[in-house]
This record gives sequence, C-alpha cells and structure tokens, in this order.
Amino acid sequence: MTEEVINGVCVYCSDPRSKVGLWRRIKQHLVSPDRRIAPIGLLGGPISLAYPEYLPIEYALLMVQQIPFTLRKFPEVKEIIVVGHDCGYYEQIPHQKKATVARKKKDIAKAARLLKRHFPELAVVAFFADEKSDGFERIQY
Ligand SMILES: [Zn+2]
Repeated sequence: MTEEVINGVCVYCSDPRSKVGLWRRIKQHLVSPDRRIAPIGLLGGPISLAYPEYLPIEYALLMVQQIPFTLRKFPEVKEIIVVGHDCGYYEQIPHQKKATVARKKKDIAKAARLLKRHFPELAVVAFFADEKSDGFERIQY
C-alpha cells in the first residue's frame, strides 16, 4: 500500500439518487482539492449516532469499527465531517417517520456532539445538505 496522507473522514448518507448524490456534492463543495477525506457512507449517515437505541448495528459500525480503524491506520486524520439531509432512513426510527427538517438538523447536531465527546482530539464539523438549493448549511452544535 502506498503511503498517502488522509486528512479526515466524512460520515454521510450513501443515498446515490441524482437529486441527493451526497458524496459527489460533498467533494465538490466541502472538500478542497488538496485534501483527502475518507468517505464513510451508509444509508442514513449520521442518524444512528442520534438514535443508537434503534440503530445499534450502524452505530457500532461507525463508533467501534470504522472511525477507530481509520484513526489507527491514518494518524494524520484531524477532522470528521458529518453530513445529513432530509433523509428517508428516518423510516427506521419509531415515532420519527415524519421527522421535520428542523428535527433532522437537531439530530445532526446531536451526532456531531457525540463524535466530539468520543474523539475530542478531532475537529468535528457538521452540515445539512439542502436538496432544493444543492447547497450545504453549517450546523452548529
Ligand atoms: Zn439519506
């Protein structure tokens, strides 16, 4: 394996539909060309970090396996980018099937706070991907 610097990881929803196409948009708008960010895409993206009681497998995959592995293998990783959107995966969360966009933004903030608590040495930045404007809104947490 060649030694290349990885600057960060990105947790996002892997929904590939063209209206959403998050990874392509993230690379375009949120990652400058000189930086390498490892994509960790899974359906629902950061939702499991806000609802670990309902999505324990996704939660463990991120928190116990994927992110810690990345940090072990690539010690130069200094940042986690969290990106959520108006996601259909809320269907998996009891009582949140009709979650509003405001609720979904609060959940992205909750996921970002959790990541910051667990990985305090890393910068955690959070965004909501707006599907209408094709832009990103920075989420404070
Ligand atoms: Zn989604």
